[in-house]
Parts: sequence; C-alpha cells; structure tokens
Amino acid sequence: MPRFLIVAISLLLATAPARAEWFYREEAIMGTRVAVELWSEDADLATRAMDAVIAEMRRTDELMSTYKPESQLSAVNAHAFEGPVAVDPEIINVVSRALDFSRLSNGAFDITYASVGYLYDYRARQRPSDEQVAAALPGVDYRQVHVDRDRNTIRFLRKGVRIDLGGIGKGHAVDRSIEALRQLGIEHAMVNAGGDTRLLGDRRGKPWIVGVRDPRNEGKMVTRLPLEDEAISTSGDYERYFEEDGVRYHHILVPGTGDVARAVRSATIIGPDATLTDGLSTAVFVLGVERGMELVGRLPDVEAVIVDKDGRIFYSDGLAPPQ
Ligand code: ADP
Ligand code: MG
Repeated sequence: MPRFLIVAISLLLATAPARAEWFYREEAIMGTRVAVELWSEDADLATRAMDAVIAEMRRTDELMSTYKPESQLSAVNAHAFEGPVAVDPEIINVVSRALDFSRLSNGAFDITYASVGYLYDYRARQRPSDEQVAAALPGVDYRQVHVDRDRNTIRFLRKGVRIDLGGIGKGHAVDRSIEALRQLGIEHAMVNAGGDTRLLGDRRGKPWIVGVRDPRNEGKMVTRLPLEDEAISTSGDYERYFEEDGVRYHHILVPGTGDVARAVRSATIIGPDATLTDGLSTAVFVLGVERGMELVGRLPDVEAVIVDKDGRIFYSDGLAPPQ
C-alpha cells in the first residue's frame, strides 16, 4: 500500500468521532431517586449497563419490601415467631450483615426498630401514643432475631418482633448495581439511591466530587468530598418527616426508647461499600457526635461528617476539614 494512503487511513482513524462518553440515567424507584452515571466507549453497552442498574434496583426493592403483604419479609414478620420462615439467601445475607451492625453499634442500628416503627405513618402524619410505644418496645431487640444460614430461615424468639431493612436495603441495592456494572466491564461509574452513593473507579483522571447537603437548606452543601472506589451515605432528619407543634417526627428511631433520634441533623459515612455506609450512617445518626465518632474511629477505612442538632459540623480524624 502506498505510504501516503497508510498515513491518510491512520489520520482518518485518529479523527474518527470517538463514541466514548459519559452516560446518565435517573428514575424514581424504592420511594426515592435512583441515578447512574457511567463512562463507556460503546453506546449499546452503556444502555445495557444502565438497564442492568435499574433492573437491579427494582428487583431488590421487590425482594426487601415490607409494604407488599405478599413479600418474603412480610411473611417473616407475620410468621417468624410461630416458627422458622424460609427466605431468599440474599435476604439472609442482608439480615446477617444488619445484625453485625447492631453488635458493632451496641444496638443503635437495629432492624427490629420496626416493632415500633410500623406504628408511624409519615404521609398520614400519624405517630403512636406513649402507651402504644411502651407496649411495642419489648419487640425492639435484635437479639430476638435468629438466622439459620444453613437452612436460610429466620425465626423470632419473641412475639411482636418486626424487622424492616429500610436502613440498609438501598446501600445493598447500590452495591449489587456496582457489581453488575463491573461484570459488564464498566470501569468508571457512580450509582446513587437517595442518600446512598457508590463510586466505581475515578472520573477518568480526577476524583468524583460528592456533596454533603446542608440538612436545613436543600440547595446548599455542607462540604464536597473527592472520592474514588468508595461509598458514601447520609442519613438525615429531612428525608421523611412531619411536624407537629413545631416538633419534627422523622424516620430514624432510637431502639432503646422508641423515640425519634434527635442528637444530630445528619450523619454521613464514607467507607468501602454502600451496605456498610448505609447501616453505619443510620447507626451514627442514632449515636450522636461523641459516640458516633468513637465508633467511626474504631473502624478501618471509615470516615464521617456529622451535622449536630445546632448545625455544627464535625469531621472524623481522617478527613481534613476544608480550608
Ligand atoms: P434514608 O436514606 O431513607 O434516609 P437511612 O439510611 O437514613 O435511610 O435509614 C432510615 C431508615 O432506616 C428508616 O426509614 C427506617 O426504615 C430505618 N430505621 C429507622 N431507625 C432505625 C434504626 N435505629 N436502626 C435500623 N434501621 C432504622
Ligand atoms: Mg442507613
């Protein structure tokens, strides 16, 4: 082939429009906004990858729901005191992880919060009376949940126990989504479901920048963090709540008392996976600044940003506060 033709072809290849670009999709699932952003050199692959994330989110939502009476978790709540109830191994894994977080946080994170939590209806602005809370409170105790990993069953050792995976399920769904992307060969991505985000790789040569929002001002940020290959979750008192006589009744409860947790306005956790950061953000929200930071300090590769009830901002030791 004449030399000039080779040069011409290689020039043509070099200037051929590169299809590589960022792709983005957003959808309302699990009662929240789900978003995925990824880099791909192949538009078809990008579409398949985003489809996979949305499908994974819907599947997890179905599996972990307690709203649907026919769901596995609803069956557990209805029958696990009578005897062991068989569930999907994936539920067994998430419940086991939740019980680990309970032990780690001394019961601040507790999926049996639902024994009291089910008495709240945030949309209808309904909350239980003190008597109702007192009657339901003995059911809040993670030690009453028994998981059989060989038989894939869950049993409650006490009557009146209920579980709900709202404090950990979205993080799990985000982790599963990232795994699905990885298997499709995606190397740079962000997956977000409400307060839970995980980053795959970096943003091609630079870190992802994730903002921690101001709990009292939706458009404002408390801080922005550069992250790569990490997860970040925020639990806030602004996600689901109603106000009554100036008091805010929101969706995170103190397991020991059944009261709404009031020590902080938001707790943000950065760590290796989103199931961990989701569970810990809820736990640290309940524990407050001092005990929350103490827990974070004990865990490797975990950092925190906490906004307390007066709006003061606290950073864990490994995070340099912005200059
Ligand atoms: P969100 O992103 O929805 O704000 P969080 O991670 O902050 O989620 O968790 C809040 C959810 O966790 C509540 O809606 C409820 O389902 C559940 N939850 C509330 N209190 C506790 C608790 N003490 N331990 C575990 N889960 C809880
Ligand atoms: Mg959580």
